[in-house]
Amino acid sequence: MAKREIQRRSNAQKITREQAYRILERSGGRCERCRGTFMLAIHHDPPKQMGGTKRVYTDDMLELLCIYCHNEAHGIRVKRL
Ligand SMILES: [Zn+2]
Ligand SMILES: [Zn+2]
Repeated sequence: MAKREIQRRSNAQKITREQAYRILERSGGRCERCRGTFMLAIHHDPPKQMGGTKRVYTDDMLELLCIYCHNEAHGIRVKRL
């Protein structure tokens, strides 16, 4: 059913806009591991199974990372320029 599709899609959006703003503010707009500013993105730890149906990310599960640290967080080694 189309309705179920929409629900599944909205579940994938786990980080709220407010949360993203908080992370950006907390980090000062810099990578939280190396303080770099190249291709920043919000990284989140893989969601843990907590038993409930609601899987919400807390702020401490989120990190603003540059592309290098982000790749490292995902186990990808990238040579820094
Ligand atoms: Zn970094
Ligand atoms: Zn990530």
